[in-house]
Amino acid sequence: MNRTIETLESEVRSYSRSFPKVFARAEGSELFDRQGRAYLDFFAGAGALNYGHNNRHLQAPLLNYIEAGGVTHSLDMATEAKCNFLERFAALVLGPRDLDYKTMFPGPTGTNSVEAALKLARKVTGRAKVASFTRGFHGMTLGSLATTGNAGKRHGAGLALGGVDRMPFDGYLGEDVDTLDYVERLLDDPSSGVDAPAAFIVETVQGEGGVNLASPAWLRRLADLAHRHAALLIIDDVQVGCGRTGPFFSFETLGVEPDIVCLSKSLSGYGLPFALTLFRPQLDVWKPGEHNGTFRGNNLAFVTATAALDRYWRDDALTRAVDRKAELVRQRLGAIAERFDAEVRGRGLIWGLDFGSRAAVAGLASREAFGRGLLIETSGAHDEVLKLLPPLTITEAELERGLDIIGEVVASAIA
Ligand code: PMP
Repeated sequence: MNRTIETLESEVRSYSRSFPKVFARAEGSELFDRQGRAYLDFFAGAGALNYGHNNRHLQAPLLNYIEAGGVTHSLDMATEAKCNFLERFAALVLGPRDLDYKTMFPGPTGTNSVEAALKLARKVTGRAKVASFTRGFHGMTLGSLATTGNAGKRHGAGLALGGVDRMPFDGYLGEDVDTLDYVERLLDDPSSGVDAPAAFIVETVQGEGGVNLASPAWLRRLADLAHRHAALLIIDDVQVGCGRTGPFFSFETLGVEPDIVCLSKSLSGYGLPFALTLFRPQLDVWKPGEHNGTFRGNNLAFVTATAALDRYWRDDALTRAVDRKAELVRQRLGAIAERFDAEVRGRGLIWGLDFGSRAAVAGLASREAFGRGLLIETSGAHDEVLKLLPPLTITEAELERGLDIIGEVVASAIA
């Protein structure tokens, strides 16, 4: 077959669904196809573009760095770009939050961060198993995939590894049940067959799993339970870190301090692959070269990540803007949900409109939205949740425009 760009145009697939267009350009909260048509982006690279597309504040330092002959690849070497990033990350992120973590560059993407976290937890505790949660999503390499509870993603990718006990996430057994009672019973009973894990890995808001929120009280209890069983707490902030829920880390206002944190997606700020694994200093059992890889620590991403920290994390202006926009989404989406008998869940700028057993509505609405110039994905075990993930820098007018389209397409999907 002759694969021209036109035939490819009908074949291109995004993360999980096909958006049948070839995109040529992007700026702020919009992408443009080859014909110049604009699409408002409520997908934002599944959370990799919190500061929007081609953000000028990050682009200028990147272009300057390239022009000046900055080092692009530097396996196992310190570079100016790397040192600057580490210094700014300590000064603007860790220091002000009084967080004492060591940082490692686990590899280019979120799944690499999770693999490093799981490996470290097993090495530190000497325990083979880890515990993860129903509907969680942690990546597509074998270790992270095994911890993924989102069965559609897991089974679709072949056989998962073992060594994982899956526990019920907050709300999984209905609103009246505290699932940690169940977890506690299993761990406290030596005859249950469930041994204390090396670590619990959890998302504070399950992104791919359907925008499911763990309550602060549940997370605090999980942290206590982990502590009591000498298991580590890993928070996977790959999707909801870097301001997605308002604060830099999703957990910082929830009263928990994990032992290990996974970050990626919006860390570079510019859509460049970059990941970090943060861990308490006393967990540093790595020997030199024990967790290596050629593309750990991308110098171009260091430059944009440093620029993003300087631009957006010197004060709480971005967090306050996200809180304001969150309120707008809560109100507008709440009205749509009420009208069409759906459920709304969210925090910061990650929101889900859950159609429950009417899963097809979410898919139809997403396709219809694309036709009207809005990129929006579905998530959840049955793709029953329309998921809003706009750049944090989106204007309120753009946000309103996207919400208008959502109201229209849900109405037409249900009609
Ligand atoms: N953890 C979470 C919570 C995620 O949402 C994702 C990606 N959707 C990953 C890990 C994996 O990240 P990546 O796709 O960059 O490997």
